[in-house]
This record gives sequence, structure tokens and C-alpha cells, in this order.
Amino acid sequence: MSDDTPRLKRHLLDDDFDEQELNRLENAIKQSEKLQKSLRMYNKAVEDSDDDRDDEFYKQRIQQMKSSIERKEKSQGNMARVVSPNDVSKQQASSSSKQTPALRGVVTGEFDGSRIWVEPKSAPKGEYGVDLPQGLSADDLSVGTEVALNPQNFSILDVLRKRKDPDFDPVSTDKTFGDVGGLDEVIATLRRNVGIQLDTDRREIVKEWGLDLDKSLMLVGPPGTGKTLLVKALANEYDADMFMVNGPQLVEKFIGEGAKKIKRLYDQARSGDRPAIVFIDEIDSIAKKRQENRRHGGEEVERTMSQLLSELDGLDQASEGQHVISIFATNKPSIIDPAIVNRCSAVEVDVPGPEAKEEILQVHTRQFDLADDVDFGALVEEMPETYTGRDIEQICKQAAITAVYADQSLEDIVVRMDDFREALQDLKDGNIGMEKDFLGSEEIHEEIFA
Ligand code: ATP
Repeated sequence: MSDDTPRLKRHLLDDDFDEQELNRLENAIKQSEKLQKSLRMYNKAVEDSDDDRDDEFYKQRIQQMKSSIERKEKSQGNMARVVSPNDVSKQQASSSSKQTPALRGVVTGEFDGSRIWVEPKSAPKGEYGVDLPQGLSADDLSVGTEVALNPQNFSILDVLRKRKDPDFDPVSTDKTFGDVGGLDEVIATLRRNVGIQLDTDRREIVKEWGLDLDKSLMLVGPPGTGKTLLVKALANEYDADMFMVNGPQLVEKFIGEGAKKIKRLYDQARSGDRPAIVFIDEIDSIAKKRQENRRHGGEEVERTMSQLLSELDGLDQASEGQHVISIFATNKPSIIDPAIVNRCSAVEVDVPGPEAKEEILQVHTRQFDLADDVDFGALVEEMPETYTGRDIEQICKQAAITAVYADQSLEDIVVRMDDFREALQDLKDGNIGMEKDFLGSEEIHEEIFA
């Protein structure tokens, strides 16, 4: 601040204004003749004070000045446009410009109830605490969000680019439908109902013809039957981003924040250039029927679910350019709230029958060298009917490990029927594999919502 710029009487302010806010005020005063004038008058009043008026009076004057600064910012904000830092200096050099160029900046600290922290990307560097701008919520301004800043006081003028939410990064996958065994009918249904909405060209026709297709789908089937695998393959085949969350994790990891997370999840999915699939596994944990017994966490689940419903409704009234599909998975459809069920088409992904089991065996042994005696038909006959793709994958893996480990010449190493039989027996005896469900997502869930 130049010597002749009047200073704020900081001693009056105690803790009412923090350092950043004072800097912001002084900076704004420095930039404005009118504010300088009012500060001079205020300073004079303080100096001439005959102590009839207490500090409160002067504090109020400062508050008034602050409001005046805010009004000024607002009117400048309306005129502001966004330019790159290089343009700022060009603009500053050009006195003919009537517009106030904005600075690019980034949110560095979350809204703490009174301030949100920003840092300009060009000089003057430093972190500044500013008010939450009107029309934007703290959710719109998570840390890392790029914003346009008023160069005079660093107030936020606009959001330039929302930060990619690290909690919901898209899943990267190279799975294809070729990696899925025995689910041809399900794949065909997915292609027909979801694929055409993800495929850019077909989506246009669907829109032109006014076809009202379901944007939400429920995959119903026991654990390990390939529901997640299907969605991964679908996303990959149609070049869509896949955002995956696990229901119990959502309520467990982000206690009290489920609804917010759902919003952020869908915001993230909508914000990309590519079509997106939001996949929520074990949806039953956040979409339980109201009458289900949930002593603890009931309200939390309800809030999370209402947010989910409003996201689904938002997608249904899809405006131009929206291309987000929701896919949910569950093995307990009967406990799901009808509000969710009614909004989804359901697709059954059942335990594979004998033929499907054989196909899954083929998928998981594609890269193996197999001995001539391997007979998948016979192996399937020896398997319990309830075995799923996950069990079969484990058997294949275990059989291959046994073969590689066995004392054979490495050159003509092959997986033999006995290796598969041994692996099958081990699985039956509970000696291989850590069933995902062993850790009891259900139990964890029941613990939270018991
Ligand atoms: P959960 O409900 O427990 O999440 P899920 O139905 O989503 O189970 P996945 O996670 O897709 O099952 O599958 C588990 C494993 O089993 C995967 O590694 C997958 O490769 C294999 N698998 C399951 N079904 C099939 C299948 N039909 N074809 C090939 N592999 C399968």
C-alpha cells in the first residue's frame, strides 16, 4: 500500500477480521478512490473521537465499508470476463478496456462456515479467504476447483472447471464381453437397452425418435455371478466412463455424508465428455424398504436414498447432452424400496447352469496350456450346482498354480484334469479362495444398521 493510502485501524478490530480479510479490505481500498475517501473520513472520525462513541461504532463503519466493497465487487463481477494470466498484463497495459479481467485461481481450502480459500494462479500469489459467492454452494467449490477471481479482492466470480472428485475416479478396465462366460442373453439385453444409449450415433436416433428408454437398470443375482464384470465390459465396449461405488462402503466410509456423496458421484459422472455408467453394487444397503428394521443409521440411509431418487429423476428428465446410465446390483431384491425398484428395469444374473459353467471354464483357461485329458463337461458334473463364476475362476487359478508348481519340466508344462479336480476338492473343503463374502459385507452392513 502506498504511503498516502489511509490505513485501517486494526486495533479496533481484534479478532473480528482475520489477516486475510484485512488484506482483502486494504487491497480493495487501494484500488478505489471512493473507498479511500470513506476510509479517510473514518480515520478522521477515529482520531477526533472524544470517546463518546465506543469501538462498536467504528466497527460498524468498517462493516459498512466491507458491504460497500462487496457491492462494488458484485457490479464488477457482472462485467468481469475470464482471461489467462498473460492476458491480464496485456489488459492492465491497455487503459482503453472498460472490462475488469478476472484472474484464474484455484480453491485451496474448503468452506469453513465463513470463508473459502483461494489462490490466484498468477501474481499476486498467496492464499486468500473470501466469502462464498452468491449462487454457489460449498459443494460447487471443493478443493482443486478452478475459479475465476476478481483481481482486486480475489472474490470468486465463477467456476471454470470442477475438480475431478478423487473419491469417484472412473474405473479403468480392459474387460470385454469376451471375458464373460455363459451370459449371452444378459449381454444382449444390456446391449439392447443400455448400449444404444451409450453409443453416440444410436443415441441421436433414440432421441430423434423420442424413444423413452430406462436410464436405470438393476442387476439381480447372487454374489460372484459376474454382475460387476458385465458392467466393466459394457463400459469398456462402449467407451463409457464407469463410476463404481459399493453401497455399504458408501454409508460406512462416509458416515453422515451419503447423500452428499451420491450428489458428487452423479455430478462427476455428468461432468465428463464421455457417456458414463454409475454402478452401485449392493444397492440394497442404501435403498432398503422403509419398514425394514434399521435402528441406527436409518435417517442417514433415507437421506442417501432420497438423493439417489432425485438423481435418477434428474437423469430421466435428461436435457441435451446427458448420457448417464445408472446400474445397480443386488442379491436381495426383496428388501429394496419400491421407489427404486419402480424406476429400474431388472435383469437377472443367475448362478450359471452346466453349459454356462463350461463356458466360464473356457474363458478362464484361454491362456493356459491344457493337457489332452481335460474334460470341462466332466468337471462341471462334479461341481456343486451353486458354484458361480467366481468359484470357477478360483478353481482355474488354483489348478494352474498347482501345475506350475509341480515338478515337471517347464517346457511341456500343462494343466491336467487332476489339477482341476484337486482345486475343486480344495474349494469344496474350504482350502482355497477368500470368498469376498467371507468378510461379510452383509454382517458389516447389519452392524451399522442393526
Ligand atoms: P458381487 O455381488 O459379490 O460383487 P458379482 O456378481 O459382481 O459379485 P463379479 O465381481 O463380477 O461378481 O465376479 C467375481 C469374479 O468372478 C470376477 O473376477 C469374474 O472374473 C468372475 N466371474 C463371475 N462370473 C463370471 C462369468 N460369467 N464369466 C467369467 N468370469 C466370471
